[in-house]
Amino acid sequence: MSALVALSLTEQQHGTLHGHLFPGDGKEAAAIALCGRRDGLERHRLLVREIHPIPYDVCSLRAPDAIRWPVEWLDPLLDRAAAEGLSVVKFHSHPADYRRFSAVDDQSDTALFPGIHGWVDRPIIHASVVMLQDGTLFGRSVDADGGFAPLHMITCVGDDIRTWHARDPVPSARALRVGRPTPAFGHRMTAECGQLSAAVVGASGTGSIIIEQLARLGFGRLVLADPERAEHKNMNRIVNATWQDAEDGVPKVEIARRAIEAMQLGTKVEIYAGNLVRRDIVEAVAGCDIIFGCVDSAEGRDVLSRISSYYLLPYIDVGVRIGALMDGTIDRIDGVVHYIKPGGSSLYSRQAYRQSQVAADALRRSNPLLYAERQREKYIDGVEEEAPAVISVNMTVAAMAVNEMLARLYLTRNQPNRSFATLRINLAEMEIEAVPEGDPCPLFGPVVGVGDIEPPLNLPELSG
Ligand SMILES: [Zn+2]
Repeated sequence: MSALVALSLTEQQHGTLHGHLFPGDGKEAAAIALCGRRDGLERHRLLVREIHPIPYDVCSLRAPDAIRWPVEWLDPLLDRAAAEGLSVVKFHSHPADYRRFSAVDDQSDTALFPGIHGWVDRPIIHASVVMLQDGTLFGRSVDADGGFAPLHMITCVGDDIRTWHARDPVPSARALRVGRPTPAFGHRMTAECGQLSAAVVGASGTGSIIIEQLARLGFGRLVLADPERAEHKNMNRIVNATWQDAEDGVPKVEIARRAIEAMQLGTKVEIYAGNLVRRDIVEAVAGCDIIFGCVDSAEGRDVLSRISSYYLLPYIDVGVRIGALMDGTIDRIDGVVHYIKPGGSSLYSRQAYRQSQVAADALRRSNPLLYAERQREKYIDGVEEEAPAVISVNMTVAAMAVNEMLARLYLTRNQPNRSFATLRINLAEMEIEAVPEGDPCPLFGPVVGVGDIEPPLNLPELSG
């Protein structure tokens, strides 16, 4: 199989696995995960849905360098995998800190996985993953003939984002995380960004500035989506847009692609000049490693929240609002940056939008006249301003959003990331308020790791 295969899990799942796989007796332990998937043409991602620890007392052997358990124990899980099209991932521990698959592992995977493929009887990917005491993960897919291919990336998404790459030697300074990980803002960070992909939805006031930063940080791949074309009124706040672009009505995503390609930093760019509520765009966004949402609609926020949960992706949402009094005097200059982790609180549970607004947005989207009305810039409440000159505000908030991502990847702050789920900046008062992570969202919690289904995201509009 030549496609790249990745695996993602939440920090909570990682903790559950670690607790079972390292019971403290220095012997190997194992667990089975049933996984959803994002199946792409060139990339697949396994998404951990459920973890089933293999009880210590059913194992016929538990040693510091080997484990055996009765294969029949798997039967009910394989029935479920077959019925629901789920992938099977075997996790086991290496308490002796052996940082690669052993000859014993090769034998047991070659014996086990052809049977799993036969039972599930669908052309889907199954994998074998090893966890080390320090939480490091590495793995491989195992095909129906018992052939191995390394998982090119494993991601643990929580308050922090941890990644392990097959191309990185194991251990990497990054994975060890002793105190501070890899120094942020150095050449190694640039190299690591080159292994990551991001989706930026919205390529206008804040989106164009986030795109600029991600490209210059050296991101390997960017997926950009925005339905709008450049207009003269945008010239004062969209980076890289020219007067001629507005004359020609060039799509905003095309302007971004042109700028990134001119940088020649090696970033691959995919652009979608359409509304997010489109199957190919949702699939492209779902195939990235991190999402930036620069949308001004509840529907857009709802769809991105679903993608984040279904596909286990960290999601950073950006908003800017300027408030004016009746006479036009500026009252507030506000920016907000939300960090959303799958299985945690959501934009919905944080009341950043309401379901009634989602329905209203969907209605407007299907009605062009109302939609045109909605598309009018609404940066400044209470003042009709066609072309608000807000680039300095947008740049502040867009930089906060990218710094938020780096803080999650590189622990650049002196306090735990959990304390900064929402950041609100009020430039009129020069205040930044940080709101800590709250309770898990009851709406999106049940769909964590579901992955591809029909219709995607359980939205009828996306039916194929
Ligand atoms: Zn092993």
